[in-house]
Amino acid sequence: MIHIDGSTGEGGGQVLRTALGLSLVTGRSFQIEKIRANRKKPGLMRQHLTAVRAAAEIGKARTKGAEIGSVRLEFIPGSIQPGAYKFSIGTAGSCTLVFQAVLPALLAAGKPSEIILEGGTHNPMAPPFDFLQHTFLPLLQRMGVKVVAELERPGFFPAGGGRIKISINPAEKLQPIELTDISNIWVSARALSAELPAHIGRRELMVVKNKLDIGDDQIEQMQLDRFGPGNTLSIFVHSDQLTETFTGFAEKSISAEKVAARAVNQARTYIQSAAPVGIYLADQLLIPMALAGAGCFRTSKPTNHTLTNIGVIKEFLDLEFNLSEKTENLWEVRV
Ligand code: ATP
Repeated sequence: MIHIDGSTGEGGGQVLRTALGLSLVTGRSFQIEKIRANRKKPGLMRQHLTAVRAAAEIGKARTKGAEIGSVRLEFIPGSIQPGAYKFSIGTAGSCTLVFQAVLPALLAAGKPSEIILEGGTHNPMAPPFDFLQHTFLPLLQRMGVKVVAELERPGFFPAGGGRIKISINPAEKLQPIELTDISNIWVSARALSAELPAHIGRRELMVVKNKLDIGDDQIEQMQLDRFGPGNTLSIFVHSDQLTETFTGFAEKSISAEKVAARAVNQARTYIQSAAPVGIYLADQLLIPMALAGAGCFRTSKPTNHTLTNIGVIKEFLDLEFNLSEKTENLWEVRV
């Protein structure tokens, strides 16, 4: 039984999700204490509990402590069953984070699966659906996985009610990838608004056009008259090796211009760095890379999420991660 201290490093939900995923893949049981100890409301919230239940169902696992608010969990994995699954979070908790927890099992399932997740799809502090679709999943494809994700309807905080469907046909063996250069950059952007006036998206896109100097053919405005209220602005930075996604999330007391400016600043910082892998992608790529048994990427200074995730992965898999600073704020992470 592996013992995990949930307060370690970042001390958030990712420690749990990585443990769930890798427990199923390796067949190793674990016990975690102090779940999400570094968060304002520690313990299992609905999103994390859904992740535990989803992992348990897909991996025929037995659990102890799988309750709302629980700070301690025991997880004894069984055998992974590919198939069709549906999990509803019941709040605006993030669907893509539940997906993070079950992805390793789906990659190791040997056969195709289809998973429907209901909850939030565009949450601040979690991968928005557009990031999953344009940034993360294409890299999994490059590793040999056939995967298609569909946003059936968006779900914004606080109402939730979104729904995504992911069909995944795993690779026999994941192929390692190397993401070391960033070249031939071009930018596009999309504003998505649901039950909010069209001028919000228009103003956001105007800021992106002006500040990042892109044309009308590189912007898109999507207006929905249902599933709101909510708005996000996605900026896609395409280059030869990948597309990175930077997201601005609308907030009630913040102008559309400010939401857009925040996303533009993230995109600019990324473009000015020599690192192809942004800070969020960095912590999320570690598990596929670890399952492939090799790989390498360049990113800016590793975040606490990245360092913590490496620590949890090493509890389950006998792997070396090599982190080296190449030049100022350009790091290479190699498995
Ligand atoms: P908590 O710690 O409250 O449980 P959490 O479950 O949301 O929060 P964290 O441990 O903070 O989990 O992990 C958040 C994850 O969301 C990380 O993998 C991070 O890379 C990802 N993420 C956060 N913001 C973005 C973003 N804007 N785009 C892409 N990914 C993001």
